[in-house]
This record gives sequence, structure tokens and C-alpha cells, in this order.
Amino acid sequence: KNWTADSTLKVSDLNFSYDQKEDNISDANFNLKGFVNVGIVGRSGSGKSTLLNLLGGWLSPTNENGHLPFEVNGQKIDSLAQPEWQKHISYIPQDPYIFAGTIAQNIAFYKPDADMDAINAAIEKAGLERFVNSLPDKAATKIGEGGRGISGGQAQRIALARTLLDTQRTILLLDEPTAHLDIETEYQLKQTMVPIFKDHLVIFATHRLHWMNEMDYILVMEDGKIVEQGTQSEL
Ligand code: ATP
Ligand code: MG
Repeated sequence: KNWTADSTLKVSDLNFSYDQKEDNISDANFNLKGFVNVGIVGRSGSGKSTLLNLLGGWLSPTNENGHLPFEVNGQKIDSLAQPEWQKHISYIPQDPYIFAGTIAQNIAFYKPDADMDAINAAIEKAGLERFVNSLPDKAATKIGEGGRGISGGQAQRIALARTLLDTQRTILLLDEPTAHLDIETEYQLKQTMVPIFKDHLVIFATHRLHWMNEMDYILVMEDGKIVEQGTQSEL
């Protein structure tokens, strides 16, 4: 079942360690409901990306016995239900995964049956039109391993275009999606993304604090701990 306006996510006493020595996430507690937009802020190394990876189910704590470390609609997610959970997630990682293939194939990652009109619309919305038009084979240009090199910002916009192509995925996990972009490009993307946020659960880690104006709820992290949480006016 997709994430809806009534869905709930409950994280209680979440701990995680990469090396079983120090905790990289300690005692995280928060509750989210519906199409809330959540910002995660905190210094480099405070655990933002780790928390997003735990929520996406790409990392799991060893003490969870095959369950993801949170409850959705009051229920734990076991390993059988995990792919179903991930089917609803659109994830823009800090360093997006670009595979060897054409730009169009990379954009259609979540939706391989998308037609060219839809892909071109996503290219335009993600601010990739000028770049793609400058290439001899346009969206059919091969990138990734053995293909053409692309910049960090272009890779992020390809990841963003994936998200824009498949807005059926109602959970957006965004990890610094604008880190490599200049202010002007970021501002244009903001105009495209903010309307989409309204009917999505958005969890958005960033150092760029102007995004917090768009967030309903903020988690402040420090050394793996959520040291403060609340609305922007509460903090
Ligand atoms: P940034 O703002 O730089 O992206 P972050 O808040 O996202 O930082 P994380 O990447 O979640 O921070 O890292 C949290 C802690 O976990 C850091 O101490 C980091 O060194 C450690 N860490 C992150 N990834 C790994 C990994 N794959 N293996 C071991 N330790 C890791
Ligand atoms: Mg990070």
C-alpha cells in the first residue's frame, strides 16, 4: 500500500553503528504522519545520510531480526515487505547512482516503460534541457561507465528527473540534492520541487537552510543524536 495522508511512521529508540564500536545513530525517536515535509539539519558527519539510509531500508541495525527499525501504520516491516516499502520511495542520494546506459535510460530508472515525451518533460523540469540539447545524440547519449563523463550537478539533476518522472512514489528521501548546483539553478529547481512536496512524505537532509522555510518539521542532528525537533518556529 502506498504512503497516504493517513499513513504513519514511528521511529523509536533507533540505534545504529557501522562498526559495532561507536553509535552513528543513537536513540532516535520521532513520529511522522501523512504528507509532512521534514528537514534534517546538522554538521557534516552528524548522521543525516545514515538516518535516510536506515529509513529507506538500505542499512539495518543488527538487533532488528530482519525487520526495518521503524513501524509503518503501527506495524514492523519484515524482509518480505521490504521491497514493497522501497517501491514507494524515490531517493536522491548525495552521490547519485548513474549506470552505464543512455541519459533516457538513467532517467527512466524507476519507470522503465516511460515514453520519450514523459522523459523529455522530466529533462525540462529538472533543468537538464540545455545540457541534453548540447549533446550529439541528445537523450540517447550514453553516460556512466565507459560512456560520457558528467558533472556532479548533472548527475544530481538526472536523479531529480527520475523523481519527477515517477511522482507515484509518494515518499521522497532527498540527501543534499542541490549540493553541486549554483544558486540560480537551485532556485529554479526549488520552484519545480516545492509543489510536488505537498502530496509526498518528504525527508530532506541539507546544509542549505533556506529549504527549512518549506519544511513542516525539522530534525536537528549532532553526533548521531537528534538533539532538537519541532517546527521552524519552535526551534
Ligand atoms: P554530511 O553532511 O557530510 O553528508 P552526514 O550528516 O550525512 O554528513 P553520515 O554520512 O550519516 O553524516 O555519517 C555519520 C557518521 O557515520 C560519520 O561519523 C561517518 O564517518 C560515519 N559513516 C558514514 N558512512 C559510513 C560507512 N559506510 N562506514 C563507516 N562509517 C560511516
Ligand atoms: Mg550526508
